[in-house]
Amino acid sequence: MAANVAPVTLSVVVPLYNEEANVAPLVERVTSILEALPDRPSYELVLVNDGSADSTAQFIREELRRRPHVVFVNLSRNFGHQLAATAGLDVSRGEAVVLMDGDLQDPPELIPEFVERWRAGYDVVYAVRRTRKGESTFKLATARAFYRIIRRLTNVSIPMDAGDFRLMSRRVVEVLKRSRERHRFLRGMVSWAGFAQTPVEYDRDERRYGASKYPISKMLKFAIDGVTSFSDVPLRFATYLGFTVSTASFIYALTIIFFKAFRLGTPEYARGWASTMVVILFLGGVQLIGIGILGEYIGRIYDEVKARPLYLISDIERS
Ligand code: UDP
Ligand code: MG
Repeated sequence: MAANVAPVTLSVVVPLYNEEANVAPLVERVTSILEALPDRPSYELVLVNDGSADSTAQFIREELRRRPHVVFVNLSRNFGHQLAATAGLDVSRGEAVVLMDGDLQDPPELIPEFVERWRAGYDVVYAVRRTRKGESTFKLATARAFYRIIRRLTNVSIPMDAGDFRLMSRRVVEVLKRSRERHRFLRGMVSWAGFAQTPVEYDRDERRYGASKYPISKMLKFAIDGVTSFSDVPLRFATYLGFTVSTASFIYALTIIFFKAFRLGTPEYARGWASTMVVILFLGGVQLIGIGILGEYIGRIYDEVKARPLYLISDIERS
């Protein structure tokens, strides 16, 4: 791990998981954009290999040999997108840091605009997807629903349809470095940090090669991470439901007492097996949901108190 002391103005951080076909075109495109920046700031390109099972690491080493501005961060195994990005941000040294995906869905052509706004005084410049090409209607619909739910449930205003593609100033990166929560939802944490933030609109491209690493199961986990790390509304859900059901059952009980007291017979709705079963199953289900919600939070508390490192770096290579 050669200590490189030359100051860096701009870092570009890219987490990569099984992106062997994307490494060369990515480095090529990003480098030519960075080269052409006005005032030619010094830059580094931090490529994080997130335990890829293909030849991503070899391809990164290939680039490392030819290009002095590449920094290769090799994680000890697959830690997932958010943690791989965190590792890259921790290693980066730039006065401003751009975080982007490695599949060229985030066009590096936006970087000059990011830098311009940063120089104009913004701490966070985030890309907002105007359109998204080559994604299934299912992904679009779930993504939309997700941003709306997040907006309802949380008290940080997380911008609609913004991913993790963004530029952050050093002081925002330092905020992230001090926030060591495990279940990371970076875009939420950046919104939470505040400072001057501004959006830039763009049209999201198709993934260049390979398949998305976010199957429905991971998307769901990511969504739950997003909600639980910024909101305790789900916890209150059980309380509200409890009050509602108690009130309803109290009224129900009163009506039955009334019927009995005045010897009016048993009302139709208080008779039989079906009504009993419905009540038992309904309450059983509601209780399980309540316990499940508690479990989500307790599991996260358990993860946090263990305080394990967020990721492990096997080596950092600089040329
Ligand atoms: N990624 C990663 N680790 C993972 C999954 C994904 O570093 O476990 C990287 C991936 O290589 C890509 C970025 O995270 O650079 C975004 O992933 P992907 O394109 O699969 O997500 P999508 O665009 O489908 O939401
Ligand atoms: Mg992608």
